[in-house]
Amino acid sequence: MNFFFRLSAVSIFNRVRKKLHSLHITLNLFRVQSVNMGLLTEGSPLSWEETKALAEHVRQHGVEQFINLYRKLQDRTGDVLKWGDEVEYVIVKFDDKNERATVSLRANELLPKLQEKELADPQNVKSLWRPEYGGYMVEGTPGKPYGGLLAHFNIVEANMQYRRAEASALLQDGEVIMSITNFPRLGCTNFTSPPYKPTPNEGVTRSHYFPDEGIYQGHPRFKTLTSNIRLRRGEKVAINIPVFRDVNTKIPVDNSHTLEPDAAKPDCVYMDAMGFGMGCCCLQLTFQACCITEARTLYDQLAPLCPIMLALSAASPIYRGYLTDVDCRWNVISASVDCRTREERGLEPLKNNKFRIQKSRYDSIDSYLSPQNEKYNDIPIVHDQNIYKRLREGGIDHPLALHVAHLFIRDTVSLFSEKVHQDDENDTDHFENIQSTNWQTMRFKPPPPNSSIGWRVEFRPCEAQLTDFENAAYVCFVVLLTRVILSYQLNFVMPISKVDENMQRAQRRGACLNEKFWWRRDVGAPRDVAPPHSDATDEYHEMSINDIVNGKEGVFPGLIPLIESYLSGMDVDADTHCSVQQYLKLIQRRAAGDIVTTASWLRAFVTNHPHYKKDSVVTEKINYDLLKTAHGIQDGSIPAPTLLGGGNVSKTNEDIPKAFTKMMSRDCS
Ligand code: ADP
Ligand code: MG
Ligand code: MG
Repeated sequence: MNFFFRLSAVSIFNRVRKKLHSLHITLNLFRVQSVNMGLLTEGSPLSWEETKALAEHVRQHGVEQFINLYRKLQDRTGDVLKWGDEVEYVIVKFDDKNERATVSLRANELLPKLQEKELADPQNVKSLWRPEYGGYMVEGTPGKPYGGLLAHFNIVEANMQYRRAEASALLQDGEVIMSITNFPRLGCTNFTSPPYKPTPNEGVTRSHYFPDEGIYQGHPRFKTLTSNIRLRRGEKVAINIPVFRDVNTKIPVDNSHTLEPDAAKPDCVYMDAMGFGMGCCCLQLTFQACCITEARTLYDQLAPLCPIMLALSAASPIYRGYLTDVDCRWNVISASVDCRTREERGLEPLKNNKFRIQKSRYDSIDSYLSPQNEKYNDIPIVHDQNIYKRLREGGIDHPLALHVAHLFIRDTVSLFSEKVHQDDENDTDHFENIQSTNWQTMRFKPPPPNSSIGWRVEFRPCEAQLTDFENAAYVCFVVLLTRVILSYQLNFVMPISKVDENMQRAQRRGACLNEKFWWRRDVGAPRDVAPPHSDATDEYHEMSINDIVNGKEGVFPGLIPLIESYLSGMDVDADTHCSVQQYLKLIQRRAAGDIVTTASWLRAFVTNHPHYKKDSVVTEKINYDLLKTAHGIQDGSIPAPTLLGGGNVSKTNEDIPKAFTKMMSRDCS
């Protein structure tokens, strides 16, 4: 009954849409519909058997949709720089009497309130709010993307502060929202408010630790993805993260290896639910390029920066109540949605599946997109020959066809009955279905059909930082780098296998200070910033984050000096200048080790806590004190000189002064 009603409502909507000539009205309707899809109506997810049976259908139509989109939009040009951040937050609940901290499963109650302003007047809001995987998470973005003015850098932090205040105003006593990458005791007994028991033998997750109620309940997408990933894989996901071995650390870590002898490794913190990864928070950025070529350039040039930014933003050393030997979420989240079968993972000979696949659908990118960078694609790009052929026939060039064909080795893991039959000329849902469930370090985003939005790339590796100041600093640093890359035509590209190697190094404990990373020797920096070195023979060498960010005499000028050189030629108002300098100083000092990463700060807090028994265990009390202190740092009431340094005050402002209209985007015709 419900099912048919929804179908007909959607088809009426489609008919009305076709009759609307005004693009503006169409877009508005789309927005409202997508908000409705997110919160008000439920949509009808197909069962795994139905979804599986339609895998080829989604693939075929998805590829046709991409070809149609590409044909229409390949020559689109003249878009200006626009960009925006996404910050995810955990709703934490403090029980001061019992000195406990839990995650509060109230995203479902908060989101409709957070979205009221958007629903009433979508064009004039300062923030947009979206659900995320965890029932305790929310995602906030600026109401509109930022533009090409240098002065925009000065409103990022103020907007983040606004978002935090807006969400905080809706909280109950004891609740706070925190931009922490991982809740340290996620998956421990009674870690949610209200508490729920995990159900290892039933439900969508079947975890020993993570109850289904921990998943956002307001839209079926998240639960559907969870069960479909498990069903496609043929078993539960298995996440094994090496425990940090302190003097009293017990090995085996706990009884997980007896509960799951085939999956859990005794010297690892074992996790068995999508929520352990997708329930983490991160900081993402999207940039609009002037044209497809520039978008491909940005995609390629930012890819080698992903591991560097991951190490610099490292913020998640604690999982399921244990200190681990990693500083970042990446491998956790990658394994948490790894839907590959045993055959695809190479554990059994191929029989029912087509390919042996090297990586999870959540991982580092596998190929560069610009034709001149093809030679650096040195790892296998698994793909279906027929899809590749079809894309080439459709006019897509080799590297882009390979990229799309590679994304399309994945099956759909979430399909709604309303979306099965589509108009491939005008819809892109099947393409987006596969595209949006390939969660890679970078995402190449084609313009949505019939919209004013251009070719974009998304930068996805960064971990969420505690304070708005830090999040703004990381955001501004990366956006400035894109401007420097384009203005100086820098080249950071190196073989993809080296980027992959860097991704693993970036996650190790203390990587920001102790690891070396492959880096290109000659990035083509202007000669007045970096004089050439004739004695250098090797194209790539290993450098510390400090060398890469701050420069190494006679070897590499450093990312910050390159940014400074770029900025020295720009007119900028005094306040923006001051804020940007504060942001760069934070990055510079983190890279140099003058101040520590969030991960190191969290570690130090735990190991210095009077209750810590040198056994890697983060108890209820340590967790409570840790989050209380972190929250104090967030709201500025507790100073944190080792994390932030002294001068972490910017001149951020909610509005751009009218007088400053100096454009920083390049002309592109
Ligand atoms: P996704 O969830 O696919 O990553 P979102 O729709 O949440 O993407 O938006 C991501 C970011 O893109 C937001 O920060 C938003 O401000 C920004 N954004 C929106 N429109 C544009 C645009 N035209 N160009 C660049 N960024 C944009
Ligand atoms: Mg988003
Ligand atoms: Mg995103």
